[in-house]
Amino acid sequence: MHRYFFLLLQHLGLSAILLATLYGAGVPQIPFFLGSGLGMASLSQTTDPLLRVAIIGAGAGGSSSAFWIARAIKNSNLTISVDLLEQSAFIGGRSFSINQSVSVPFSVELGAHLFEDGHKNMWRASMEFNLPVSRIDAMDQTLHFWNGVNFVRKSPSFWPIVDLLLHHGHPSLALGTTYKRAEQVAARFAEVYQPNFPTWDAPGELVARLGLLDLLISNTSDYFVRTGASQSVVNDIVLPLLGGYTDVPAHALQSLFRMSSSSFYQIPGGTRRIFERFVDLSPASLFLNTTVKSIEHVAGTPRWRVNTTSSSREYDAVILAAPFHQANITTPESLFAKVPLVSYKTVHVTVLVTRSPDVNTTFLADPSHSQDGRFSSISYWRQTAGRWVIRINSQSPLSDDWLSRALNRYDQVEAVFRQKWEHPLQVPTVDLPPIRLEEGFYYLNGFESVVSSMETQIMASFNLVNLLLRDSFGVDVCGSSPTRNHNIPAQRYFVAGWDC
Ligand SMILES: Cc1cc2nc3c(=O)[nH]c(=O)nc-3n(C[C@H](O)[C@H](O)[C@H](O)COP(=O)(O)OP(=O)(O)OC[C@H]3O[C@@H](n4cnc5c(N)ncnc54)[C@H](O)[C@@H]3O)c2cc1C
Repeated sequence: MHRYFFLLLQHLGLSAILLATLYGAGVPQIPFFLGSGLGMASLSQTTDPLLRVAIIGAGAGGSSSAFWIARAIKNSNLTISVDLLEQSAFIGGRSFSINQSVSVPFSVELGAHLFEDGHKNMWRASMEFNLPVSRIDAMDQTLHFWNGVNFVRKSPSFWPIVDLLLHHGHPSLALGTTYKRAEQVAARFAEVYQPNFPTWDAPGELVARLGLLDLLISNTSDYFVRTGASQSVVNDIVLPLLGGYTDVPAHALQSLFRMSSSSFYQIPGGTRRIFERFVDLSPASLFLNTTVKSIEHVAGTPRWRVNTTSSSREYDAVILAAPFHQANITTPESLFAKVPLVSYKTVHVTVLVTRSPDVNTTFLADPSHSQDGRFSSISYWRQTAGRWVIRINSQSPLSDDWLSRALNRYDQVEAVFRQKWEHPLQVPTVDLPPIRLEEGFYYLNGFESVVSSMETQIMASFNLVNLLLRDSFGVDVCGSSPTRNHNIPAQRYFVAGWDC
């Protein structure tokens, strides 16, 4: 049955019956119906929604999905209700920070927080939401890196001219070619921000359209060696450069995406503030501490029943904005079969706030010590309020004892924060799931096998919401005439979805 026809029926009469059965009691609910510049006031609670949507996961992907739905409501005067179901107690998912406290007078980022020059959604959101942006210059960081064989200490500011040539000679020049390729990758992705860029049904379709399939199927090391870099350049330079997020080796597309900028930015007070604003500005009812346990078909209808730890509700559409297999949700076998298994690597992030300006390189250079915690990198991340923030990535948790030996002055450490993550291993692949797994069921995180970043999850959620709206109403986020609004000031970049 055409979904729109079903929705119309529902709108005309069935929705009252549905409402009575859907909304159980006892769910902690924090509604956000903040009227805003997006025109939320038109979303009246007295109007039965034409479409009920559940978004599972309130990270970059889920929160931005709610936001794009808000834009669609404004542009096309649709009535859509959204429940945003999040298992943790906060918005942001892997974009996670600890807020400032008396002992540490700034927020400490323990997960995703950096964005780059070309990340137009992140920039646009921070501008529109009046959030300050601070630049973190990667070239100012001192990076200590365990490359699996040696302890490598780099002062990156010397790399481009002296260090590369002195230590690696001619093969390092191949890096110039690689940076050009990285710029091309960024330019290709920038096409997605253009007006009327066509939606894609599967992440692989987009990669093919952008002409980047060769990178998706190449391992990073092989790609660099194939394009002229020596293995030592790859080990001592390329991998440390790419090690900023997680030290997880990836396919060449993710690596080149990461290399396309040398400047990084974050939002003081936590980059996840962007995702909190997305939710604030959306019509979503936010259910924190709510774990989705299972999802099933509602017999004889195209609807889905979503069962959480505390309730069971029916929806016309479900957006799964969390890694499928990690979310631990029981689904019909037909859905499960469409999502290839993705392997994950555990990454432990340890952040120290210290007044000590250096680490104990003698200790770290000893292979047995480096392998103790299977630590992979230490970087002096930034200096603020007279303290240094040191970030250590490792494969195992780092004990207090290990930390006290790794730092010259452990007595000067003022705070230690530890966080464990599971990060998708981005192995070369073409085996990617479709976005619409079944009628009314949309899956976002397949895109992470292509590129894993906050920006690309916002980009992918825009595409997903467009697919959902077309299936349901025959319009997209920008309304039925997406080209109508192109008179943006010359100094501002056009960003699809924001400028329509
Ligand atoms: C250590 C680390 C550092 C990184 N650094 C950066 C960086 O600096 N810049 C960058 O752009 N990217 C970075 N990344 C990648 C980035 O974190 C991801 O690409 C992005 O956050 C993915 O967003 P998401 O919303 O799709 O998923 P997530 O952020 O994982 O959000 C999914 C949400 O779903 C919730 N959830 C899961 N299962 C359920 C369930 N059953 N019921 C209800 N809720 C559920 C989770 O609690 C979570 O909040 C980093 C990743 C890691 C691990």
